[in-house]
Amino acid sequence: MNPIAELYRLQEIDTAWEKIRQRILQLQKFSGGSGQLLKAREQAKVAEAELNDIRKQQREAESEANSLTERIQEADALLMGGQVRNPKELEALQSSLESMRRHKSALDDRGVEAMVKADELGVKFAEQTEALEALETEWATKQQSIDDELVRRKKEYAYLKNVRAQAIKTISPKFLEQYEYLRGRKNGIAVAKLEDDSCGACHMQLPVGVISNVQRSPDLVLCTACGRILYAE
Ligand SMILES: [Zn+2]
Repeated sequence: MNPIAELYRLQEIDTAWEKIRQRILQLQKFSGGSGQLLKAREQAKVAEAELNDIRKQQREAESEANSLTERIQEADALLMGGQVRNPKELEALQSSLESMRRHKSALDDRGVEAMVKADELGVKFAEQTEALEALETEWATKQQSIDDELVRRKKEYAYLKNVRAQAIKTISPKFLEQYEYLRGRKNGIAVAKLEDDSCGACHMQLPVGVISNVQRSPDLVLCTACGRILYAE
């Protein structure tokens, strides 16, 4: 095969290889879940934490209120029992009882508030969970097709890597270097096909001398406008 044709073929391999590489990166980015799904997962997590927190507050208020009820009953029994006769002690007991009752009433309020809030959050959490499950189910199908395609693309990637390694064996290092240099600077296209009397990449018309050089010269002939390697089929 003529050396320029080999370079042109290498470019076809590299273009296909790069396309597959981009697709693999894209699939890998997708594979964790859609933006909508990730957001729904996060929201459900936050709602669950809020719900657990408010339920804990409710339990604490209830448990504190229960132990206070026992202490109130004890103090009440003491007061009614008639064993305490000292007026100062009686007054202190009475005052402590009142204070405990006020505290108990505040705890009851807090418990009820927490319960109402927990019910609200519970409904919200249930709705979010349901929406999330629907998204997860929908995503599972997509995930499967992403995984399948990833396996396929990775095989193609490895195959082309091998094809490329074989292809460059017969290309002279000097040509290869020029090719890589141009590919890096000319948007991935180092070799341009001649199209009639124009460069196939930048479409500028080429001088007659250049065209005949492309057809005859064993050296690389570059487009006078864009600097790419010209290739005549
Ligand atoms: Zn050109």
